[in-house]
This record gives sequence, C-alpha cells and structure tokens, in this order.
Amino acid sequence: MSYIAPAGTAIAPHTVAVSLLRGATHRGAYRNLQSALALHSGHDRAFLMSTGRAAMTLALRAMRELAPQRTDVLMPAYTCYSVPAAVKLAGLRPRLVDIDPATLSPSPSALEAIDTSRSLAIVSANLYGLPNDLTTLAGFARARGIYLLDDAAQALGATLAGRPVGGFGDAGLYSFDKGKNITSIEGGALVASGALGDTLARHQASLPAPRTARTAITAAKLLVYSLMLRPVAYGLMNRLPLGLGATPWEDDFPVSNYSPTLAGMTWRLFGSLEHLTRMRTTNAARLSDALADAPGVSLPRIVPGANPAWARYPMFLDPVRRERAVAALQAAGIGATLSYPRALCDVPQVVELLASDQAPLPGARAVAERIVTLPTHAYVPGDLGERVRTILQAV
Ligand SMILES: *Cc1c(COP(=O)(O)O)cnc(C)c1O
Repeated sequence: MSYIAPAGTAIAPHTVAVSLLRGATHRGAYRNLQSALALHSGHDRAFLMSTGRAAMTLALRAMRELAPQRTDVLMPAYTCYSVPAAVKLAGLRPRLVDIDPATLSPSPSALEAIDTSRSLAIVSANLYGLPNDLTTLAGFARARGIYLLDDAAQALGATLAGRPVGGFGDAGLYSFDKGKNITSIEGGALVASGALGDTLARHQASLPAPRTARTAITAAKLLVYSLMLRPVAYGLMNRLPLGLGATPWEDDFPVSNYSPTLAGMTWRLFGSLEHLTRMRTTNAARLSDALADAPGVSLPRIVPGANPAWARYPMFLDPVRRERAVAALQAAGIGATLSYPRALCDVPQVVELLASDQAPLPGARAVAERIVTLPTHAYVPGDLGERVRTILQAV
C-alpha cells in the first residue's frame, strides 16, 4: 500500500548523483553554500558542520568561552531532544521555558519570571517551520544580557516581519537532516557575526574532518531516500522494522566538519528553497482550509507577521482521541505523527539535568498530549485535508 511520508524533500535520483559528484569534485559548492547561508541570514559568516546538534554544541562552547561564569541555557520546554542533548555535551545545564500552546512560542509571562543571572543563552525552536515570536525573544535576550541562538533547524525559508528566521539574535542554526527544509541526510550550519563569529572560526578550525567512509554511507542513503520518499516505495519500506520516525536520546554524537560532497546536495537544494517553501505553504493552506472547522481539531496560531516554512503541518486533537486518530490516519497511508512524544520536563535524560527550582510547564505538556503533524512535501495530494477530515470524523 502506498504511504505519504511524514516529512521530506522530493529529489530526483539523478539530481542526487549529479549534485554529490559536483560537491566531491568542486570545492565551489561548499563555499557557495557557506556564503549563501550567511547572506540569507544577514550574518557575517557561516560554519558548516556534521549535524545540527554538532553545530549547536559548537555554538554553546564558543558562547561559554566568551562568558565562562554562565552555565544555564534556556529553551522552550517542547522542542527537539537534540537541543538539551547538545547543551549537555557542551557541559551546560538546560533550563526549560513554558510555551504558549497555541503558538508554540515561549510564553512572555514564563520569560518574565526567569532568573537569568546564570543564563548563558536562550535557544528558539521555530518547530515545523512556524516562527516563534523572535522579536520578543531578541528583546528579552538583549535586556537580560544573554545570547539568543535562533534555532531554524526546521525553519530555513521562514520569515518574521520580513526577516529570515535563523537571522535573529547573535547566532542562527540550520539542519540538513532527513525531515528538514532541505537535506543531505545529515548536516548542519551556524551563522554568526562579530566576536562570536571569530570564536566559532577558531573552534571550528580544531574539529576533525568528516570521515570518508561515513560520507560514502550517507551518499548511498541519500540515493535510497530519493527513491523511497515516493508514496508507493515508502509504503513498502514502512513495513520493514527500520525504526523510522523514532525519537531516540543521543548525547555522545561526533562534533565534526561537514562533507564537501554532501554540500553539493545542500547547495543544489538551497537553489530550490523558495520553490520548496512556496509548495509547502500551498499544501499547508489547503490543509488549513479543509481542517479549520473540523470538529475536535484546533490549528496553531501563527505569530503576527510570520511566514512559516511549513516543514510539517501541526494541528491539535483531544488527547483521548489522538492516538486512535493517528493510528487510523497511518492505516490509511497518511504519514501523521505524534511528533515529539513528551515535553522535555518528562524526558528522563533531561529531568536529571534540570535544576531543583525548575518552574512547572503546563503549556508544553498540553502540546505534547495534543499535537499531530501531517506532511507538506511534494508528494502530498491536493485532497489530503479532506481525507484527513473524513478519517477523523470516523474515529
Ligand atoms: C533537527 C533539529 C535539531 C538538530 O539537528 P540535527 O541535524 O538533527 O542534529 C535541533 N533543533 C531542532 C528544533 C531540530 O528540529
């Protein structure tokens, strides 16, 4: 049976082959990607890394060097588990900030209440490509004298008030992992300016080069990915026990440089970013139209002035029906997911890192209990929203 993958970027296999070959034989793709990301974000420079979590670890190490007495990193209590994992690997402590369950953005009252005397930085989330209220976050960081790391791992191509997400604050982060806006299976980038940029450059210079064997395996995975994202192929693969879509905890990942070969793929896709974002936005608008007044469904509130990149389409269901609804959607070949299964305050590996005075996080817990994501990529059919609506009515 065919199956619409939960997220991804449709790429023709011959484009994968040509792009990787170009990356392997011309250093230009790597350099072009670096300058294009810096230009896109409005920062002075960009640093390409093995993964987004490696990039985050490097950013936090550089920030720590510039403010060594500060040990806490603030983050929304509902975000990717790689964020607290990177904080741990950088030798720092996560402190969780509650979110507004309608916007997924850090709640202003929760921010106001935080004692930032030991805080090094605050990290945004911009999940599913929906911009956080980054204007407020940037103002908060400036007022408290802490760094803002604008995590655009899922939001490359999104804007807020006409400015690119990832470009707010002192440094920005992008990811090129499988389910992100553009992908080379793995990879990430930082953008930064000024003294932080200089410190990052020094840190990056001491990192190991990517391993050739790992690049070869990733290149092979990329070819398989381009073949398997098609619904007919994905339907076959989905039946194999590959652990697709699992959210494992990992805090001992390598922090190394990006492969110029893989940069060939990312540079090629960066050239299609506007097209990809427009296509995902069209698919998201169709889903919104079909689901806006569906019984028992609520849709996220978009921060005013935001143009999301819609890496996925999030919606909220009653916790009592949610798991049954997702099972029914999956049985119908629709890659719906429960997203991250828990708020960070309910992930055991995070709990052991938290301070004893951590504030309660009802907004993040409400999101973890209600959220469902739907796909937005090029293989999503125009009537997906109607199909989802019909299935939800029957649950
Ligand atoms: C994916 C992701 C990361 C980590 O990126 P990787 O390339 O997977 O290491 C960080 N933050 C957010 C919000 C993410 O979605």
